[in-house]
Amino acid sequence: MVPYFRIDERLLALSDQAERQAQGAFGQIEDIQRYNQQKMLAAFNRAGVSERHLGGSTGYGYGDPGRDVLDQVYAYALGAEDALVRWNFVSGTHTLAVALFGLLRPGDTMLCITGTPYDTIQGVIGLPGREEPGCMKEYGIAYEQLDLLPDGSPDYAGMEGRISPRYKMVYIQRSRGYSLRPSFSVEEIGRMAEIAKKKAPGCMVMVDNCYGEFVEKIEPVALGADIIAGSLIKNPGGGVAPTGGYIAGRRDLVELCAYRLTTPGTGREIGCTLGHNRELFLGAFHAPHVAGEALKTAVFASALFSSLGFPVTPTPLEPRADIIQVVELGSPQALAAFCRGVQKGAPVDSFVTPEPSPMPGYDSQVIMAAGAFTLGSSIELSADGPLRPPYAAWMQGGLNYHSGQLGMLLAAQEMLDAGLASL
Ligand SMILES: *Cc1c(COP(=O)(O)O)cnc(C)c1O
Repeated sequence: MVPYFRIDERLLALSDQAERQAQGAFGQIEDIQRYNQQKMLAAFNRAGVSERHLGGSTGYGYGDPGRDVLDQVYAYALGAEDALVRWNFVSGTHTLAVALFGLLRPGDTMLCITGTPYDTIQGVIGLPGREEPGCMKEYGIAYEQLDLLPDGSPDYAGMEGRISPRYKMVYIQRSRGYSLRPSFSVEEIGRMAEIAKKKAPGCMVMVDNCYGEFVEKIEPVALGADIIAGSLIKNPGGGVAPTGGYIAGRRDLVELCAYRLTTPGTGREIGCTLGHNRELFLGAFHAPHVAGEALKTAVFASALFSSLGFPVTPTPLEPRADIIQVVELGSPQALAAFCRGVQKGAPVDSFVTPEPSPMPGYDSQVIMAAGAFTLGSSIELSADGPLRPPYAAWMQGGLNYHSGQLGMLLAAQEMLDAGLASL
């Protein structure tokens, strides 16, 4: 079955069993892929994408037709009034920061209702101990937080009691990020947005949508979010976008974000695309399919490693709202072996051995496995984890299920070879 790689017969039998266990989930994922691919094709048709949009502009980029049509494609595909899609966003954090600074003013207060936000956003906000120069706090933008319940679920009663018109923005993070909490479905986010609008009718509801795009049939703007943002080297870039980010939602708010990205007054009217339009269109077109392939890889990993006896979050058939899979490997050696196997399954740099190393902002060493066409891309198969209990690997991505599945089998094989897993 796997002529080019050495994989134990018994592991292959377990793989078949894991795939059988995953069939129901695969069926649902394929249904969502089919639906979202149609939605994307319809978005291309409706925006009138044409060959002349695939070329680029230079200099100020005045009147770049591809740039403006790409914005429309994403707006339609995300179900939003408007979108700002630019290769000039250097990361997800940058994209989210542009939205936050674009929408909030000195004296405003934002309330995050999904607990502590993603690591890099903490420095943008200026949480205690994370007051980076130029952070929002330095500009007099205040931050408050409503924690999740102890089991990681949203505190709806707490939201009812806490949200009031003194908050200019209610902020929600969809994905689990590097925590063990569940990701939040669009329906759950809709319920949060409804409470926010009821308690603070004028507030803006912003969603960090990273890792969530195209995992469901609708995006948070369909159920009341005013603005969403994410990275193009995750789900919505389809593994093709070489860099970039998007902001989508209410037109007046997207406009304010464009003023922050470039300048007040010029906004979205400038910004050349060089030669990137073609890749961005191609990536958008592939994105719904690729997000589904990454999801199937995650479900397979969950089924395989739970049958090997490791605790997994989410469990194979649990509903998912992001592409992340956590596998608790239980020891630093097992985490390292898992990462070595993932690296062996990469198309690029497969000969490299991942080693734990210190990372800024982490209190323990971190080990990472990735061999990607796009540096740091996490829609491509990748895994990482801090060297502290429970020695969990956060894995995500897989440009196609078959390579993702193979990567997971190689991770398991590496652990078997090292005597760190048994059949
Ligand atoms: C990845 C991610 C970010 C930040 O994106 P970078 O590209 O790493 O800067 C923010 N929030 C969440 C939930 C993410 O998963």
